[in-house]
Amino acid sequence: MLNTKSVIDINGFVRCPLCGGKTRQKARNDTYLKNFPLFCPKCKCNSLIDIEGGKVIVQSIEPRID
Ligand SMILES: [Zn+2]
Repeated sequence: MLNTKSVIDINGFVRCPLCGGKTRQKARNDTYLKNFPLFCPKCKCNSLIDIEGGKVIVQSIEPRID
């Protein structure tokens, strides 16, 4: 159910794994992140991701709590 395919766009911005919106986080092909908390300003969710080899691995997604 989680989107485990790459969510880094052509400009190097990490896309939200939930809504696909652009976050403020950039990553490169040689970026390595482990358990990185990614915040999406569009849908306001917090996700926990790994980035390795230009691919994003989504660990968990916490939707916005109103
Ligand atoms: Zn989002």
